[in-house]
Amino acid sequence: MTANAENQPIKFPTLPLIDQGLLDRAWAEAARQGAEYEPGEREALLARIKRLLQEQDAVLVAHYYTSDDLQQLAEETGGYVADSLEMARFGNEHPASTLIVAGVRFMGETAKILNPEKRVLMPDVEATCSLDLECPVDLFTEFCDAHPDYTSVVYANTSAAVKARADWVVTSGIALPIIRYLADRKEKVLWAPDRHLGSYVQRKTGVEMLICPGSCVVHEQFKAEGIRALKKEYPNAQILVHPESPEEVVALADVVGSTTGLIKATLNPEVQEFIVATEPGIFYKMRQASPTKTFLEAPNGGLGGSCQSCLRCPWMAMNGLRNLAQVLESGANEITLDEEIRQKSLIPIHRMMNFTRNTKLP
Ligand code: 13P
Ligand code: SF4
Repeated sequence: MTANAENQPIKFPTLPLIDQGLLDRAWAEAARQGAEYEPGEREALLARIKRLLQEQDAVLVAHYYTSDDLQQLAEETGGYVADSLEMARFGNEHPASTLIVAGVRFMGETAKILNPEKRVLMPDVEATCSLDLECPVDLFTEFCDAHPDYTSVVYANTSAAVKARADWVVTSGIALPIIRYLADRKEKVLWAPDRHLGSYVQRKTGVEMLICPGSCVVHEQFKAEGIRALKKEYPNAQILVHPESPEEVVALADVVGSTTGLIKATLNPEVQEFIVATEPGIFYKMRQASPTKTFLEAPNGGLGGSCQSCLRCPWMAMNGLRNLAQVLESGANEITLDEEIRQKSLIPIHRMMNFTRNTKLP
């Protein structure tokens, strides 16, 4: 907590818990998308989507956390499976006039910010992210206004409006080098919205930082105790952790990294077993690259009765072949943005992308 001009404490307010109704709706849609296929349905959907992608000059860009079906389809059709940074870069460089973004809303928005001339569609525009929800633009603006001497850095998992108010945007893949760069310049950082990633980069760089209290509903649940117990069963396993996880989980990690960083870590020929603390959609690429290795889900505390598959991101799971086919056919779920917000949010995104071009990522 710090103080404003009148010496009143200013704190990013503790936000209400993510609305249970929103989570229930996400799980209900995820269940529809993940429901078992009727005989022949999957093949028919795949054929229909492939034809529509061609007819509509569209390319599918999928996040590592989407279903195996979507990741496989993206790869088979000349699209791309990636982390949020690489998704943005690929969409920007690919010549297709329509980008289909299978992921969560901020990823679709980032694609539109970078490609205003392209049509950007998403299987479900209601697919959001707890970090985005916990960082509404009015609260973020208030926090920034109260701390004008701080450089504001937001995680990519935020709305276009929040990005438009920020000095820098970072993804988990580039957060540490950018914060190190700012620390070297003796800048003070206002960080939003993920408190675990924020405190991780703060510990690593020693930068003076104000951190908003958001968190990811998936990574928040990993528990150090369970991981320690699993490590006893698999003493040779390496522990791979996404930095959205709590500090005590990060402390157990052999490798802390973005989704791409964690996949790269599994290529180490000297290690055959991995305990992985991130969303399990990532196992598709890990198993594809190393089919004979063992990948174990890091244990979590669970959300009691409130989740159906606690380690899955409910919003990523809203993407499926069924709604993808519908969207391609109808042209629904197009991402549109206010032009002023788009132009403003482009500035910190370009800053990140230019920085990334000159930086070797871990
Ligand atoms: P990446 O930036 O590593 O793709 O992570 C995005 C995300 O939502 C992690 O939960
Ligand atoms: Fe957001 Fe967490 Fe889902 Fe990633 S896994 S999209 S951070 S809720």
